[in-house]
Amino acid sequence: MRILVLPGDGIGPEITAATIQVLTAASGRFNLGLELIEDVVGHDSLRRYGTTVRPEILDQARTVQGIILGPTATFDFKDEAKGEINPSKFFRKSLDLFANIRPSKTYEGFPGPVGKFDLVVVRENTEGFYADRNMELGNGEILMTPDVAVSLRRITRQCCERIARAGFELAMRRRRHVTLVHKANVLKIADGMLFLDECRKVAAEFPEVVVDDVLVDAMMAHVVRAPQRFDVIVTTNMFGDILSDLTAELSGSLGLGGSLNAGADYAMAQAAHGSAPDIAGKNVANPYSLILSAALLLAWYGRRTGKPAFEAAAEAIEAAAEAAVAARDVTRDIGGNLGTAEAGQALAEALKEHEGPDRQRQRV
Ligand code: NAD
Repeated sequence: MRILVLPGDGIGPEITAATIQVLTAASGRFNLGLELIEDVVGHDSLRRYGTTVRPEILDQARTVQGIILGPTATFDFKDEAKGEINPSKFFRKSLDLFANIRPSKTYEGFPGPVGKFDLVVVRENTEGFYADRNMELGNGEILMTPDVAVSLRRITRQCCERIARAGFELAMRRRRHVTLVHKANVLKIADGMLFLDECRKVAAEFPEVVVDDVLVDAMMAHVVRAPQRFDVIVTTNMFGDILSDLTAELSGSLGLGGSLNAGADYAMAQAAHGSAPDIAGKNVANPYSLILSAALLLAWYGRRTGKPAFEAAAEAIEAAAEAAVAARDVTRDIGGNLGTAEAGQALAEALKEHEGPDRQRQRV
């Protein structure tokens, strides 16, 4: 498996280096034959090439079997005419990575603030309130006069249908419960007539899956009050973005939020969080979010190619992470006292030395 690795900005290079260590250990133990090809995006690319993402990187992305994209300083990139392209949007849109899969769960030995839970946010990734990806040409955000701006929210039946299907298929591999999160009381057409309607059509094909729905504002209270009542949560782009930061933090830290962007043909591992400039270069960032995202990428590849070693490697990485959290062999944000590099090293060593627990695990 060839993986394109793009470390990004801020804490990106630090957490990517730790992720590479872990992947290298997993590749050795499970004979995965991983080939990691490094390139640059973000500020580094802007300095060297005058653009945050070169077109040839997209060509390369289409020839590899997976991408790892570190967080980038998207807030800094304001003018595409000056080469300031949001790399995250660029890959999600260009490769049609419509399903953003964001698992959150608590770990033994480090219970989050709201008790044990294990859920996955399945977020639509190519339209919604993200105006910058809603148009074939141009941007869906318009400054009409110096004092009037319009940001277009696009919702299509096709995107609702395919994200719902991704959610129900995932629920069949888990506890068979899907919660649809929306704002149909206000967005009566987009969320009421299109999103809910398409989700319910897909639900009819999965009679074993229990379905309920919750308004997005109420969802914030429910997920804090009783996150254990949720299994798979299917929602539109911006709602899923916000909700998954909350669920990651409730699991113990934003630094634990793994995230996979998957389409029909391509997939990209990406931490759920941003480039965290406040802690960049200090060797304190938690690398687990990107490491767990990389594990999701291995599992995705293993499932679609019928190569069980990749799924076994993903399980072993998750099991090693669980053991490390329980032993406090982790960064400070989740109760340990290791630096970013040391936490990556410890996980890589554990992966080389120990067999993971032999038990049935929920796959995402
Ligand atoms: P952030 O997610 O980078 O950080 C929020 C808070 O969480 C900060 O206190 C940070 O220190 C902490 N945090 C984040 N990741 C952590 C980790 N791995 N370990 C420990 N603590 C961690 O959000 P922000 O500061 O608002 O954004 C910074 C930049 O990242 C902005 O330019 C923003 O646009 C960009 N961003 C990029 C992505 C992406 O590339 N996918 C996503 C979100 C934000």
